[in-house]
Amino acid sequence: MAGIYIHIPFCKQKCTYCDFHFSTTFSAYREKMINAIVVELKTRVNYLGKQTISTLYFGGGTPSLLTREELKLITETVHENYRVEPEIEFTLEANPDDINAEQLMEWKALGVNRLSIGLQSFLQEDLDWMNRAHSAEESVSAVKLAKEHGFSITVDLIYGLPNRTRLDWEYNIEKLVALSPDHISAYCLTVEKRTALHKLIEKGELPEVSEDEQSDQFEILVSTMKSHGYHQYEISNFAKEEAYSQHNSNYWKGISYLGIGPSAHSFDGESRRWNVANNPQYIKGITENTNYFEEEILTPKDRFNELLLTGLRTKWGVHLESLSFKHCPTKQFRKQLDAFIEFELIIEKEGTIYLTEKGKLQADYIAAMLFLD
Ligand code: SF4
Repeated sequence: MAGIYIHIPFCKQKCTYCDFHFSTTFSAYREKMINAIVVELKTRVNYLGKQTISTLYFGGGTPSLLTREELKLITETVHENYRVEPEIEFTLEANPDDINAEQLMEWKALGVNRLSIGLQSFLQEDLDWMNRAHSAEESVSAVKLAKEHGFSITVDLIYGLPNRTRLDWEYNIEKLVALSPDHISAYCLTVEKRTALHKLIEKGELPEVSEDEQSDQFEILVSTMKSHGYHQYEISNFAKEEAYSQHNSNYWKGISYLGIGPSAHSFDGESRRWNVANNPQYIKGITENTNYFEEEILTPKDRFNELLLTGLRTKWGVHLESLSFKHCPTKQFRKQLDAFIEFELIIEKEGTIYLTEKGKLQADYIAAMLFLD
């Protein structure tokens, strides 16, 4: 069992907070990019060994900008070259302004069964400074329409925005739960250095983001999701019943995946590989058969730290035995773990460690303190 991720590096416009890899000026080489993705899929058929494909995920960028023919070509290449399980989770990231009845029917016909819709906020003012291409109204109608067409829906929302109070966040969550999506990913805003948002804050056009406000909003998020029947199966991810993202859960569980397209990462159980985050260089590398990626063999210590970082964030926790298998925990690790247990940040149950509610507020710090140097 493994997954395939395909990165579509095109966007209509640049959102102020985003530091993913994408381009807004791609029309001149669009066809070359699609062909390069197809070639990469064909040449890397052995990357996952004999594993079957159980999840296919189109991310980006904005995969909902793909034409029917482009999406069909890539999807057919996957089916023709890989052993794909009969019932896969097939996710496509889509922006609300690209969603209409015709598109939905086309996506469905091509096998897409899960849509990840980037809403980010229900407040038009936020969408304006974020430079999102859709309106708050479009968000609501896009989710409703996609549900009517039978897709499993996950939506993305961002909390801890500048100028936003607890009340604004409560409004956002109310709007969200009223739409009743199957799955919700809520991310805390981070201000990355090379983004327009960073410049806006530096110039004083937007205020600094308050960490206290962000923690407060996270707590509101967790309690509201719980009261509406969503399971927090990962710190930022909530699902109704068992509508977990299989694709992302596999990342967190250390299952292999193949990443195709510029900037995409792959993992085969022992090494990580990442493609160049530059569209012309990626196309050149693929078409001229020159190097277009870097690779790193993970040491047992790297695997230990990764399992800890990702596992602790999930409801499945981390099996201490699986850690010892990757690398022998030191006495210092045990001492630090006991200290976190005493401070009620971690609980240990039948050989597995989990973050407590209090611990979830400091997940990255806790993992970092437990890392092996
Ligand atoms: S649409 Fe998504 S990937 Fe593109 S700029 Fe906006 S946030 Fe980034």
